Amino acid sequence: QIGRIAQQLGTPAYLVGGAVRDLFLKRDAPDLDVAVEGDTRALAEACKAQIHSTHYQFHAQFGTAILESSQGMALDLAQCRLEHYPAPAALPEVRPGNIQTDLARRDFTVNAMAIRLNPQQFGILLDPYDGQADLQAGLLRTLHSRSFLDDPTRILRGLRFATRFQMDLAPESHQQLKQALQADIFTPLSGARLWRELRYLLELEALPSALPLLSAWKLWFLLRPKPPASSTLPTLLQRGHEQIQWLQAQFPDEPLDVFIPMLILIWQDVRLSDIQHCLDRWPVPDRGRLLADLRALPGLPETLLKAKHPSQKANIWQGVSVAGILAAMAIYADNATIVDSARLYLQVQKHLPSLLNGQELQTLGLKAGPSLGKTLKLLREAQLNGEISNKENAQQWLIK
Ligand code: ATP
Repeated sequence: QIGRIAQQLGTPAYLVGGAVRDLFLKRDAPDLDVAVEGDTRALAEACKAQIHSTHYQFHAQFGTAILESSQGMALDLAQCRLEHYPAPAALPEVRPGNIQTDLARRDFTVNAMAIRLNPQQFGILLDPYDGQADLQAGLLRTLHSRSFLDDPTRILRGLRFATRFQMDLAPESHQQLKQALQADIFTPLSGARLWRELRYLLELEALPSALPLLSAWKLWFLLRPKPPASSTLPTLLQRGHEQIQWLQAQFPDEPLDVFIPMLILIWQDVRLSDIQHCLDRWPVPDRGRLLADLRALPGLPETLLKAKHPSQKANIWQGVSVAGILAAMAIYADNATIVDSARLYLQVQKHLPSLLNGQELQTLGLKAGPSLGKTLKLLREAQLNGEISNKENAQQWLIK
C-alpha cells in the first residue's frame, strides 16, 4: 500500500534496516522503517489518510515521520540521507541523499539492505554490501574501517545483535573494534548516548548470554572497573529476570524499569565510589534511590533476621525500591526467609488499604499534627501484625 501511494506521488520508497534483516531471519519486525527518496512529508500525509493512522508525527528538522496503523504497527518514514562525521564519536552532519548513500551510512552489512516498495520493481532487493551472505554466515560486518571510530554506539549495537541473533563479529570488524578501543573511542562519546545503548543492553531478555561477549570484546570497563570475578553473574541475572517476570505477571500495572534490577545485580559487588563515577556521567533515573538500594542490600539478611514482627520486616522492605527488592530476591534466592518475606511485602503488605484515614481520626477526636501521623503509623503496624483488620476493631484498638 505504501508503495502504491509513493508511486502516485512519484517518490521512490524502500523498506530498509532491521525490517529487511528480520524478513530474512523470518522474525516479526516490531516496526517498519521506510527510506524515501524525495518529499517525505507528502508521502507521510498521504499514508496517514489512507492507512487510517491512529498516531502521526512529522519532524521537519529531521525529515522523518512516525505513523501508527489502526492494527498497532509502527511505521517510520525517513528521507534518504548522506552522513558525514566531523569528529570521532560526534553526531553526524546530515544532508539529503539517495538510497545508495542511505545504505552507506548504516552500521552493519546485515542492516544495510533495502527492498523497493513501488509497484514498478516491487520487491527488488538492494544489497550492495552482501548483507544476505553475512546474515547466512552469522557475521556482523561494518561497512568501512572507520565505522566504530565514527560512531562507537555501533559497538554496543553490535553486541546486542550478536546476543539476540547469535552472530559473531567478522574478523576485520573485530580488528576495528580493537583499534577503536585502543583509540579510547568511548571517552569522547557523551554520557547520554552511552547510557542509552547500555540501557538497551540491560533490557535484553538474553542479557546473560551477552556476558561472555562483554568479556571477549573487552567491554566490561564500560559497566564496571573490572570484569566480574565469579562466574555466578549469568545465573544471578537469569534469576533477576525470573523475579521480574513473576512481578509483571502478578501486577502488570506496577511501573518498573527492568534495567534497574539488572544494573543492581551487575553492581552488587562493586565499590560505591566506582558506581558513583558512572552515575555522575550517565543520566540514570533516580540515582539516589539506586545507591540507597545498593547500600541496603548487603545488610538485608541480618536486619531481616533481627526483625521479629511482620511490621518490622515490612518497614525494612519499604526502604528498598521494587527494583531493589527484585534484585534482593535474586541475590538471596537460596534464603527462603528473605524471599518469602519479600514476596509477602510485594504481594500483600505493600497494597494493604488504610483502615482509618487522617480525617476519620480527627472525627474520633484526634488533633491534626505530628501525633496524628504517629497514630496512623501505629495503626498500620497493628494492621500488618494482624492485630486489627477492619474499621470497627481499629477504633476499639485506638480506644484501648
Ligand atoms: P531492532 O529495532 O530490531 O533492534 P533495528 O536494526 O531496526 O533493530 P534500529 O535502532 O531501529 O534497529 O535502527 C534501524 C536501522 O537504522 C538499523 O537497521 C541500521 O541500519 C540503522 N542504524 C541505527 N543506528 C545506527 C547507527 N548508530 N549507525 C549506523 N546505522 C544505524
